[in-house]
Amino acid sequence: MQKYRMYIDGKEVDSSSGRWFDSFNPYTGEPWAQVAEGSADDVDRAVRVAHRAFSEGSWPELTASQRGLLLHKLGDLLARDAKKLAELEVRDNGKLIAEMQGQLNYIPNWYYYFGGLADKIQGATLPLDKKGYFNFTRHEPLGVVAAITPWNSPLLILSMKLAPALAAGNTVVIKPSEFTSASTLEFVKLFEEAGFPPGVVNVVTGFGKDVGTPLVTHPLVKKVAFTGSDSTGRQINELAAKSFKRVTLELGGKSPNIVFADAKLDDAVNGAVAGIFAATGQTCIAGSRLLLQDSIYDSFMDKLLSMAKTARMGDPMSLQTQVGPVTTRPQYDKVLSYIDIAKKEGAKLVLGGGAATRPECGKGWFVEPTVFTEVDNKMRIAQEEVFGPVLSVIRFKDEEEALAIANDVRFGLGSGVWTNDIGRAIRMSERIQAGTVWINTYRAVSYLSPFGGYKDSGLGHENGMDAVREYLQVKSVWINTGAATANPFVMR
Ligand code: NAD
Repeated sequence: MQKYRMYIDGKEVDSSSGRWFDSFNPYTGEPWAQVAEGSADDVDRAVRVAHRAFSEGSWPELTASQRGLLLHKLGDLLARDAKKLAELEVRDNGKLIAEMQGQLNYIPNWYYYFGGLADKIQGATLPLDKKGYFNFTRHEPLGVVAAITPWNSPLLILSMKLAPALAAGNTVVIKPSEFTSASTLEFVKLFEEAGFPPGVVNVVTGFGKDVGTPLVTHPLVKKVAFTGSDSTGRQINELAAKSFKRVTLELGGKSPNIVFADAKLDDAVNGAVAGIFAATGQTCIAGSRLLLQDSIYDSFMDKLLSMAKTARMGDPMSLQTQVGPVTTRPQYDKVLSYIDIAKKEGAKLVLGGGAATRPECGKGWFVEPTVFTEVDNKMRIAQEEVFGPVLSVIRFKDEEEALAIANDVRFGLGSGVWTNDIGRAIRMSERIQAGTVWINTYRAVSYLSPFGGYKDSGLGHENGMDAVREYLQVKSVWINTGAATANPFVMR
């Protein structure tokens, strides 16, 4: 079996315990690789190395433009190795090759964009209200950043943290998900080739309590950038608060995808299917609540079901496959348990509703694309994140009711509105409580558009110009230009 070691100080290293854990291929349900099992000792080693690389040596000596060039070079290397990394992710994660090829070809843009931004980080000269002083601001890096990532889209989500953190001049310790560590460990091998000094980027692999918690609580870590579930996010927020660490939290969602009768229905059907069955529903922005206006309910459902019924499942390496396996065994069990919950709650099952037994799914962790209608927004299936190919369909009468249902949930990550009425589109975009509103499209993400959650979906933003500020602290510098000596007993 292939072995993946941790990456500290520019070298592949064993864990201090010498232990390993298995990484599974979700398509076969079998282990295919072993990953070094890290501990608090390994975290301490990596953080100290990252702290040293932040404080001394060549990294802090680089100009911002030089840092930007390194990020650019890294983007080029990532583009060169996109195919290899995409195939690795398919094996480890079960994501479709069709999606991974697109994703890996797109990810270099994070390094180009934030590389370009590195030397545009600038302070201001302030028009002071006091005479005899000159005042300016500096935007300085924080120090060691902990980047903790989930198992869905590991490299994309990592790049949203890594590119701005490095552009700002920080150093990083990454803790990838224990379910999908391989692509991160393969990717970081490119840092040396790109010309980054050793220790600027490090990876400690292992489990949340053994590696994640020691990383979040380590005194030399100054910021935690986390993507994952809201329950882990809450724990991290509490732990980080004890030592005043900054956090960015990108958490879960229960996003409404709202279709009005005046929408282009065929486009909206496409958007509804893309919202919940793409990536096997394992995306934080899944449009897991489909809100349909009364008058189009039946015709829309006919179209939706006939498209969803034809979804091809099977080998994620095949370009023909449309719905792949669930990435982890615990997640597979969780999705199936939510299907049971929905049935017990009285939602009406109209498609799927269990494990996929199609021969092309073999022993993989496949769940049939599942649709429940007659869902009440109070049901757990409408309120809790399933993170799988399970759609809840809810009926509404008018705009007010659609808004009330859309906002009646503790999350606020994504949302979709399908309408041809421009006034309604704008009204909805103003009143939906979510960090992203898509009008007549769904699940579009870019390195240059801010992404973040309202309510329990998170804190802070990734992507876009402002994301780099999440990795900076501001210093105000006062210079006395006056000739006279000031009275020492009064505030200046
Ligand atoms: P998770 O919270 O279980 O794990 C995420 C990471 O946190 C993993 O690396 C895990 O090992 C680590 N971790 C676990 N316990 C920890 C602890 N106590 N301290 C520190 N680290 C700890 O999430 P997951 O199951 O890997 O991912 C799925 C979740 O991620 C879903 O809820 C999904 O909505 C969310 N997600 C959010 C976004 C977003 O951008 N908002 C994107 C993708 C996924």
